[in-house]
Formats: sequence, C-alpha cells, structure tokens
Amino acid sequence: MKFRLFNTQTRTKETVRGEKGKAFGIYCCGPTVYGPAHIGNFRTYVVQDTVVRLLKLLQISFQYIRNITDVDDKTIRNSIAQQQTLSDYVKPWIEKFHNDCKRLNLLPPTAEPRATETIEAQQELIQTLINKGHAYVRDGSVYFRIASFENYGRLSHLDNRVLQTQALNSAGRSNDADEYDREQVADFVLWKAYKPTDGDVFWESPWGRGRPGWHIECSAMSHLYLGQTVDLHTGGVDLCFPHHENEIAQSEAAYGAPFVRQWLHIAHLQVEGQKMSKSLGNLLTLDDLQARGYSPSSVRYALLSGHYRQTLNFTFDLMRSAQSALRKINIYTHALLSQSGINEETFEKRTENTVLPEKRTFLGDFFEALLDDLNVPKALGCLFTFMHQNPSPSKVQTGSLLGEWCAALYALGIEYEELDTDMPTVEIPNDIRALAEQRWAAKQARQFQEADRLRQILTENGWNILDRKDDYVLEPLKGKMPADI
Ligand code: AMP
Ligand code: ZN
Repeated sequence: MKFRLFNTQTRTKETVRGEKGKAFGIYCCGPTVYGPAHIGNFRTYVVQDTVVRLLKLLQISFQYIRNITDVDDKTIRNSIAQQQTLSDYVKPWIEKFHNDCKRLNLLPPTAEPRATETIEAQQELIQTLINKGHAYVRDGSVYFRIASFENYGRLSHLDNRVLQTQALNSAGRSNDADEYDREQVADFVLWKAYKPTDGDVFWESPWGRGRPGWHIECSAMSHLYLGQTVDLHTGGVDLCFPHHENEIAQSEAAYGAPFVRQWLHIAHLQVEGQKMSKSLGNLLTLDDLQARGYSPSSVRYALLSGHYRQTLNFTFDLMRSAQSALRKINIYTHALLSQSGINEETFEKRTENTVLPEKRTFLGDFFEALLDDLNVPKALGCLFTFMHQNPSPSKVQTGSLLGEWCAALYALGIEYEELDTDMPTVEIPNDIRALAEQRWAAKQARQFQEADRLRQILTENGWNILDRKDDYVLEPLKGKMPADI
C-alpha cells in the first residue's frame, strides 16, 4: 500500500520512499529546552509520531532522529539568570520533555543528538563551507554567503526581495549586533563570536571563542546520523523559512548532494482562534490541561483530530469531544476483548507488535485515508462509521477484526484503558450535582467562560464532566476513588 505525503518543496503529494538497501531516514527539528513544551509544539510531535507509526505498520525500517537544541540565546540567558551551568539548567527541561512525550505516547526517536554534544561536527561543516567559498569570517563570527548559493529560497517559494525583507526582520528581532557585519543582509550566522553576555558558554574554534548558530546544528546532526540525503525532514510550518531554507543552503553547498527528498511541515495550533503566546496568556501545556481534568491521551487525540496541513483551533469543546470519542473507542475495544476472550495484556502486546494486515476487510478505508497524506479527520470518520454500523461484532468477525483494530489503535497511538466495570456506583453529593447543573445551564446559554469556571471547580473537587449531545455525565476523576473525594 502506498504511503503518500505532501512535499512542501514540490507542492504535490508524493509516495514516501527511501534508498534501496538503506533504512528510511527521518529528521525532526526538536525542542529548544528552556521551559515546558506547549501543546502547539506537541501538535507537531504527535503528527511526526503518526508518520513513524505508519512506517512501522508498513514494515519499513527507519532511523528517526530528533535533536535537542540545548544552546541558544534563551537557554544561555536563563542559565546565567539562575546562576546555573548551561547543562544543569537544561537538564530538568529535557527530563520534562521526555516525560511529556511518554505521557502522550510518543515513540522515542532512534537517536536524540544534542547541539552541545555535536560541536565538532558543526565546526567541521563550517570549515568546509569556508573552504568552498560559501562562508566568510567577520570579527570572530562566521556567516553563510547567500549569494554563493543559487537555489536559495526554493523551499519557501519566496522571491529574493521578500526573503531579504524577512531576513532583515528576523535579524532586527534577534537584535544581534554581530549580524550587521554581514556582506549582505540575508547572510546568516553559522558561528557567533563570544560576547560577555554568554558567560561561561563558549567553545574554542579556528575563528576564536564562540558558539554555533541555530541552523548549522541541524545540518551537522542530520549528516552525522543520516548521511548527505535525508528521506523526510519535518517541523512546524514556522521552520520553513528561514531555518529549513538555511539548512538546505548549508548542507547542499557543503556536500553537493540533495539534502532532503521530502519536506513535511505541520500547520500551527491556535487557542480559541488566537495565536498562542505568553503575552496573551494562552500558552497551554500538558500540565495545564491535566489540571483541568483532561488526560494526556485525550490531548493527543485532540491534537491529531484536524488535518495537519490546516491550522487547528484548540478549544475546550474540542477537548470534550476528544474525551468522549476516546471513551467510545475504549468501550468498543472492551466489547471486542470480552467477545474474543483475550486479556488486556495480550491485546497490548499484540498492538505494540502489530503490522498492517494484508487483508483489510473492516477498516480498509480508515488506513487508506491515513496513508493518503495523513488524512486523520477522514480516517476517524471511517472508524466511527464502522463502529456505528457494527455495534456488536459477531464472534466470527472478531477474529479478523482484532488484527485491524490493533493496527488502527497503534496508528493513532491510542492505548486501551481498562473500563472500571467493577467500580462501585458513586453517589454524587448534592452540592456537586448542583454545580454541574449550573454549569450545564451556563453552557446552554453559551456563557462558556462561566461554564469553564464551574467545570474547573468540579475538577478541583475530583469530578469530571463528559458532555453528550443532549445531556452530560458526571464521573469521579480517574485514579480517585469515592473515598478520596
Ligand atoms: P521550538 O521548541 O520553538 O523550536 O519548537 C519545536 C517545534 O514545535 C517546531 O517544529 C515548531 O515549528 C513547532 N511549533 C511551534 N509552535 C507551534 C504551534 N503553535 N503549533 C504547532 N507547532 C508549533
Ligand atoms: Zn532544525
């Protein structure tokens, strides 16, 4: 079965293919570790995870590299402010990132190189660029000479004039005085000469003390792990220019081979129709959502639910539908397990080791949609239509359905959560019931802020509300028994 993805560079859907006899190489630009990743970042990582899961289902062997940017202006500034070494400062943020990835059921990459651990490779690449006339030294900094690379701008499809303006804007934003020494405004920095504000963070180099620029890291690390040509390179849409454009220039100018076969860019997540930003106070993390009673699995589901090439608008209604959709999938899985007589452990093992069944009798359209440029909304539609049309599969159907069901849950990264069937029925206290009623009334009156406020109080008291079409269900938060409440 063909797996097609939209290539940003050619603007067409192309069949995913690597080089014969070589593992398929994917490179994902990873996090800059100066705080917790937000749910926008995780939209990008969840989509990348789905690509990797599909490769695994298709039995394509792969090398999946996702870097960690552990040196940049922000990490240096914060580590100095907190009087910590850079490595002590980033350590808890890297751990936090790993922990969040685990909670979201993201598969770990094959390797996760860090910028600070690959300085030598970055310096070698810079030296190659200088030797070939693509880079020059100014006052201890090294710049890439854009005029020496004819194809600059081919990924972002912007003409030279627009690129120059954008480069000027981004240079202005970074407020980096070094950058004014460039031959041309669009030239970008490969190596930054040391400044006193860098504190103890510097490496010796042939051009003097300093540290690498951001773009050079990814070119060096992808070369180190995946060779000259990467099969699939991905990141959020904001990375297309200048980051990925600069990576192409550096790698192709140095090695003379095509840098990337296919580019995949993920559109941004917005919150309630607005760009996420610290100043708007709408920058949400996994912890923020968990505090409001939403499990990481429902966050994952919500982040996946829109098409990756379209902006996804994050709302609490979206979270509630994700919760209720997951519950339906869970109930269906539970019924399937009871019917087939296999236990949860066997099911989990089977799901982890599953491959795409050759014969797809029940969920063929689901997999077709996923493999056609990750059309998750269509695939989920197929899944729910199937459940609706087959509310209780017969024993005969169950055997062959199980293989397809395991593969479907694996592709979406959904883990079966055992239903609390023996949990005693919980008595709902009158004050909780009254709050829930008030919240429902507020929601019906479209007073969403008030409804969210009341939901928050219920969550703090250990209760979760599941909204349905015409009513709601109150349930104790997972992990809390009535006695805790
Ligand atoms: P950063 O840590 O800022 O380098 O970002 C890590 C990844 O998250 C990159 O691939 C970004 O393009 C992506 N990203 C940043 N903001 C968003 C957003 N609002 N929605 C989706 N992806 C994002
Ligand atoms: Zn990168």
